[in-house]
Amino acid sequence: MQREPAFISIFDTTLRDGEQSPGCSMQPREKLRLALQLAALKVDVIEAGFPVASLDDFAAVQMVARELRGPVVTALCRTLPEDIDRAWEAVREAQRPRLHTFIATSDIHMQYKLKKGRDEVLVMAREAVRRAKDHTDDVEFSAEDATRSDPDFLCEIVAAVLEEGATVINIPDTVGYTVPSEYAELLRNLRSRVPALDQAVLSVHCHNDLGLAVANSLAAIEAGARQVECTINGIGERAGNASLEELVMALRVRRDLLAFETRIHTPELYRTSQMLANITGVGVQPNKAIVGKNAFAHEAGIHQHGVMASPMTYEIMTPESVGAKTTSLVLGKHSGRHALDQRFRELGFDLTSEALTRAYLLFTRLADQKKEIFDQDLVALINDGLTDVPDTFQLRAVQATAGTHVLATALVILFDGEKEITETASGDGPVNAVFEAINRITGFSGELLDYRLASVTGGADALGEVFLRVRFPEGTFSGKAASTDIVGSSAQAYLNAVNKVIHRGKLASDPLLQS
Ligand SMILES: [Zn+2]
Repeated sequence: MQREPAFISIFDTTLRDGEQSPGCSMQPREKLRLALQLAALKVDVIEAGFPVASLDDFAAVQMVARELRGPVVTALCRTLPEDIDRAWEAVREAQRPRLHTFIATSDIHMQYKLKKGRDEVLVMAREAVRRAKDHTDDVEFSAEDATRSDPDFLCEIVAAVLEEGATVINIPDTVGYTVPSEYAELLRNLRSRVPALDQAVLSVHCHNDLGLAVANSLAAIEAGARQVECTINGIGERAGNASLEELVMALRVRRDLLAFETRIHTPELYRTSQMLANITGVGVQPNKAIVGKNAFAHEAGIHQHGVMASPMTYEIMTPESVGAKTTSLVLGKHSGRHALDQRFRELGFDLTSEALTRAYLLFTRLADQKKEIFDQDLVALINDGLTDVPDTFQLRAVQATAGTHVLATALVILFDGEKEITETASGDGPVNAVFEAINRITGFSGELLDYRLASVTGGADALGEVFLRVRFPEGTFSGKAASTDIVGSSAQAYLNAVNKVIHRGKLASDPLLQS
């Protein structure tokens, strides 16, 4: 007899744990855009942030809670009363709010980090869940560093928070230390020793320090876990979290062996991965499973032969099933505003009429430079051309010369809202010369920390996308831009970072925004 497949709840923590990875910090509006895409992907739960951590984090959680319909939206908090209340304030307007509180339960964490004994931690956990339950019925409790905790104490604390009404119990492998067989054993043991656990949802949260996060999560599912915490592209602290796309596709492709289902709409996987990479500027490694550039590339001649005869010779899943086949031509020079709007809607962007006007202008400009425009080009256009930061300085023209035996020079013309300002500069390479000229005009002088160039699509007329991070005395800012001309997109990206510094300065001095 066929078993009914059990549903696994997909808890996405890209906006919280993921955002903690170096270089992956996101602005509130960027988080909202990604959250809307995660809803299109049909994740069950979105952890939107850690509201007590910063004002930006609070704002992002609140924005996601207000705007999102569908998934549960949760906010993380320590067991401190003020943390819990602050998290609730941020998430309370969600259609389906959840509070997620955590405390470390391993001796090493309790002794060195919390400087508290077991009894005290037990009381804090109980009181936190009780306080959270005053706000909402849906309360998740995490025993941080559970896999290195004493199993007896873990059972004790889990039983205690269940008594207080916790609805989800998360047993994280915080430091990525466990292996599949050990983890499954731990969870089975917990379930048999704490029978009340059957009334709650057992959750897991695996880190990838040994590259085992997905394998450990799968073993946990077989041992009774029904919620899995994961991130897009596997981003997260240190080596990252279990990758959502790998986990979901492992369950999908090996349905024959693993009788579990998720609600994930897998054709959205690739687009979600790309959107995250685009927002953060942190690219996906080419050989990354499911969403890497080479995940469906067949280079060896004998493989190509096989795939042409029958894709199943070397493909265990189709690129279409994860939405990776995005090379089809979507729009060209003669496409109208309506067609562009339509395509943006299909891509998950609901533009205001003003934003659409701007996007259409950028689109026609791009169509003059590039004859075929793909979905990725449109996403790049949105991400780079419609940023929320006002363009205090606008790029009017840039011209650079460089060669093997000459000093690189650049001429830049910027518009400051009133007049055009022209400067020239020389430098170590044309990009450097352009940055120097921009510094002279704007009066800002940033130190370039990171500079990356990637092509958005293939072909000689491909869009070159520049990501950079610049340190100014006011702080570190990222900039990005896409253009068919790499010197132009470098200038635009640098200017984007400069405009962010100016915008941040204005925000800080606006009396209306002081509270
Ligand atoms: Zn984590």
